[in-house]
Order: sequence, then C-alpha cells, then structure tokens
Amino acid sequence: MKESTLAIHGGIDGDEATGAVNVPIYQTSTYRQKALGETYGWEYSRTGNPTRAALEKLIADLEGGSHGFAFGSGMAAIAAVLSLFKSGDRILLSKNVYGGTFRILDKVFNSFGLAYSLEDTGDIAALEKAVAPDVKALLVETPANPLLAVTDLKAVAALAKRHGILLVVDNTFMTPYLQKPLALGADIVVHSATKYLGGHSDLVAGLVVTNRADIAERLGFIQNATGGVLGPFDSFLLLRGIKTLAVRMDRHVANAEQAAAWLKGNPAVKTVYYPGLPCAQGYEINRAQAKNGGAMISFELEDGYDVRKFFSSLKLIALAESLGGVESLVCHPASMTHASIPREVREKVGITDGLIRLSVGIENWNDLRDDLQQAIEGSKLQ
Ligand code: PLP
Repeated sequence: MKESTLAIHGGIDGDEATGAVNVPIYQTSTYRQKALGETYGWEYSRTGNPTRAALEKLIADLEGGSHGFAFGSGMAAIAAVLSLFKSGDRILLSKNVYGGTFRILDKVFNSFGLAYSLEDTGDIAALEKAVAPDVKALLVETPANPLLAVTDLKAVAALAKRHGILLVVDNTFMTPYLQKPLALGADIVVHSATKYLGGHSDLVAGLVVTNRADIAERLGFIQNATGGVLGPFDSFLLLRGIKTLAVRMDRHVANAEQAAAWLKGNPAVKTVYYPGLPCAQGYEINRAQAKNGGAMISFELEDGYDVRKFFSSLKLIALAESLGGVESLVCHPASMTHASIPREVREKVGITDGLIRLSVGIENWNDLRDDLQQAIEGSKLQ
C-alpha cells in the first residue's frame, strides 16, 4: 500500500467485533479476567490498550518499522528512548535540536550521569572525530529545529553502524509521508505527534518506532515501567488525524514552497531557511532522502524592521508555540521554543533574536501572503 492508503487502512483497520470502520475508544483502565492467569488478551491500560495498540501498529506500518509505542507527549517519547542508556554513556546531539530535547539531557538525564555533546551532524568528518568509546548514540533532527539544517541520514547511519552505536532520528518535521529514517539506516524514530501527525493542534502526543526486536522489547518494558502512555481518547484523535496526513502534507508543502519563494524575493527579508529552496544548505541531500522540503520555514527581516512589531501586526497567522497544525503559526525561537538553550549556545548555532519560524498551514496561500505582507509593512521602523 502507498502511504496515503496506509494512513487510512494501515495498523488495525476498523473494529472486527462490530464492523465499525473506526477503531473504538476503549476508555477503560482494566479488563475482566476469565480465570486466574487467563485473560482476554488485555490486563491493564498502562501495559496495553486496544485503541493505543491500533495507533502503535499504524505508526510502525507508516515508518516501515516492526514496533511502535505511544506516549503522552513527544518529550515523554524522547525520555523513554533516553532511558535505554545508562550512567557513563554519552549521546551526540544535532546542534540545533528542539530546545526541550536539549533541556531534558542537560537538566534531567545529565544528573543521572548520561552525558551529551552538541555536534554539527551535517559535518560527518567532525562527527567521526567526536565518537569516543563512551558515545552510545546519535540523536538527529533533519531538517533541524529551527534553522532547518539538513543531516545526511545515510551517512550518519553508516557512521553509527561502523562504531556500533544507535542512530535515533526525530522525524517530527517531515513525518513518514515525506521521510523514512528507518529505511535510510536509523534504529529508532521519534515523533512529537502533537505536530503534523495529529495535525489539528488539539492533542499532545509522542511516538517511537523501531525495527529492532531487542530495542522494542526494552522500549516496551520502559513504556510500561515508567508509564508515560497516551490515553485511549488521544490515541483515537491521533488515529483520526493520521488518516488525512497525505492530503494535509501535500497542501502544507505546496503553500510552503510558495511562501519560501515569496519571502526569498522580498526586499524586506534578509535570510530564508527552507530546505526546499535550491539555494539552501543541504538541498541536494534533503532531496535525496525526503520527498521535498516540508512546510517549516525560518527567516529574518532586514535591519530596518522590528521583529516584535511584525509578530503583533499579524492578523490571520497566530503567534504561538508548536507547529504542524492546519492553521499557520509563527514563533520566536529565541524566546519561545529555544529559550531553554543558553544565549551563548543559541547564538553560536545561529538562533538570533531576529529569527522568525513559520509553520505554514493549509489555508489559501493568497490570504497567508497578504497577512505576511501587511505585517512586514507594519513592522518597518520609521
Ligand atoms: N521534537 C520536536 C522536533 C519538537 O518540535 C517538539 C516540540 O515542539 C518535541 C520533540 C517535543 O514534543 P512535545 O511538545 O509533543 O512534547
């Protein structure tokens, strides 16, 4: 099945017991047992729930993995993946990952002895040098948040295999519809399903997929032992969101390609970061490993424009955290998504105070363009 069909009919397609075309919401914490030690296949909803199981099978099918796991947020999913490691291990991290990914390593796992270092995962030679005996995994986002820097997944997968370490890819920005990291050699894929997979800004969820039985066994244990699972209702909402993933992504990307070209040609715009622009860093690599450049764009206005005024002048596009919903959103990475990264680190990686991140929604492009244009005009310093 092609992805657009799989998104609708993959996983567990409907309900065998009743013929319902949708998987029901099994809103239950526990399950009656026939006799001591004899169950109907389910025991307790932290351990397993049929609605969550349908979602877990669906994301595994979409990513081309063997096992999927659903969590209460993207961060809970990342915490479960980091729980695979132990004190004394070190993780190499893409230098401009989501601020929360940096924060959980820096402020939570670090105090349990799991070390990390920030690397330019686009520079394979430098990465090769950074792999020391204590390094046990690479954690990569591509395109990375918020500068849309591209990492060559086949090259980092080969490096990881050479050194016997794991490659973990955060595929939130691309989704399995646009990019399939497991097929390119990754061992684990994580998602903030809050974003494009849910697609409607109405739920918070995280997913993990692997194609390795040993990792799956350990992740299943960690999921049950630490308990950050996704509830049945949100599992249902996510199943429902994923059904329209292909059509939504096609429209998101069509709008983003127009937005990036328009911003690029706008004299008020200094820089545009979008991996779908032929002049972008990593364009060729992204084209080889993903269907297109996705729908996230970052840009900076020229010096005579006030970024604060730009945000407050927008009428249609909302200033908000998050991304990947049907509605277009803007954010200010330096004070919002990446505020947990110290200023020196932020500036070193290029997240300036003037950087604007745009999550291009599926509205009519002309309406989005008009809003961007009037906000740019409104932000011009006199
Ligand atoms: N990974 C990426 C790339 C993200 O953008 C985010 C959130 O913005 C997360 C992980 C964390 O996900 P959540 O907010 O669902 O916990």
